[in-house]
Amino acid sequence: MTATTATGGCLCGGVRYRVSGKLREVIACHCSQCRRTSGNFVTATNARAADLHLTAEGTLAWYSSSEEAERGFCTRCGGNLFWRRFDSDTISIMAGTLDLPTGVRLARHIFVADKSDYFDLTDGLPQRPAGTG
Ligand SMILES: [Zn+2]
Ligand SMILES: [Zn+2]
Repeated sequence: MTATTATGGCLCGGVRYRVSGKLREVIACHCSQCRRTSGNFVTATNARAADLHLTAEGTLAWYSSSEEAERGFCTRCGGNLFWRRFDSDTISIMAGTLDLPTGVRLARHIFVADKSDYFDLTDGLPQRPAGTG
């Protein structure tokens, strides 16, 4: 059995996961899709899809949010958990669903051109107007 580097899940526990590989630094995405699914903005780490093991998935559903990607969420508590491109071998994991300590840190903001207007970014981290870059 491979070593666990992180665990996490949604609010109700209907979706639980274990990650056995390395987690990427956390990126905050302010795009309109992330705003509307999360209610604010998304902070996500990323792992190899093969390293993500679902230990509970009874309430997990997927929504195709664009032609390129889909979002995994809990149909019971509404928690946002995953984002993945159809053509990718990695998967983004919403950082707020990680159990503590997470072992990762927020590194930058992307799609800040689409950010909402009710707050300012004051953490001094790099900001990109669009994608990861
Ligand atoms: Zn749930
Ligand atoms: Zn986004």
